[in-house]
Amino acid sequence: MLSYRHIYHAGNHADILKHLVASQICRHLTKKDAPFFYLDTHAGIGLYELASDQAQLNQEYDTGISRLMERSDLPEPLERFVEIVKELNPEGELEVYPGSPMVVDHYLRQKDKMHLCELHPNDYPVLAALFPKKRVANVVKDDGFLAVKAMLPPPQKRGFVLMDPPYEVKNDYKKVVKALEEGHKRFAQGTFAIWYPVLNRRQADDLLNAVAATKIRNTLLLELNIRGTETKRGMAGSGMIVVNPPWTLEKEAAEFLPFLRDALAEDQDAHFQLRWITPE
Ligand code: SAM
Repeated sequence: MLSYRHIYHAGNHADILKHLVASQICRHLTKKDAPFFYLDTHAGIGLYELASDQAQLNQEYDTGISRLMERSDLPEPLERFVEIVKELNPEGELEVYPGSPMVVDHYLRQKDKMHLCELHPNDYPVLAALFPKKRVANVVKDDGFLAVKAMLPPPQKRGFVLMDPPYEVKNDYKKVVKALEEGHKRFAQGTFAIWYPVLNRRQADDLLNAVAATKIRNTLLLELNIRGTETKRGMAGSGMIVVNPPWTLEKEAAEFLPFLRDALAEDQDAHFQLRWITPE
């Protein structure tokens, strides 16, 4: 089943957390001269037109990026991320919002490489057209869960794997943990980030427990809920599970998570979690 289209959700609170963490991971990787590899298992279309009918349907970007564009008090990591969005919107109006491949592309150097998987028959060609240069970006219409086996370990020996499945099919919760185990077995020193939605507490906790049960070390959890988890149907929040995070991420998140909780809160029950699932 491939009914999920990310454009309906582009720029929402969950994208902000995901892309902010991706941005910080890339900043860390580019501190060293050595090239790095990026694998995006579920890449989407790369760039989202916010004036499109789909994005306009629920205007989800109003729960996220719209609230941050004009703020002058952003924590530094968030300021850097919002600058990426501003560069893509040189007229000053918020017209487009970057997907994960575009966020990473901002940091990519000539020597780095990315491998982007997108299975949707309509979304794949849009993404492929955005990244025509195969030397830097390889865009494939493949199952991203399988790419974890096929593409790891990368020749660069350093890198970042983002797993961002739609979770419309419940099996994605199992597949993402299995893919993490398989990927980590092949590329233990790599940074892995799994995004997940908080639709209800139990489902999210089941995933976190399954990740803990893998016993993979050095796994940090960042979760942001913009309202009480059980108050309304839909996505109250989302999280990023990061294996081998940059050593600075915990400290940075201790500042940007409370900021985002307050800036994006929909009710007084907005909250965040920042903790180690497993220590180093
Ligand atoms: N990572 C993107 C971003 O942050 O901009 C958003 C990705 S969206 C949440 C999930 C994407 O995965 C959808 O575009 C969907 O078509 C695609 N997809 C679903 N199952 C897939 C699979 N098994 N392999 C690759 N892509 C898949």
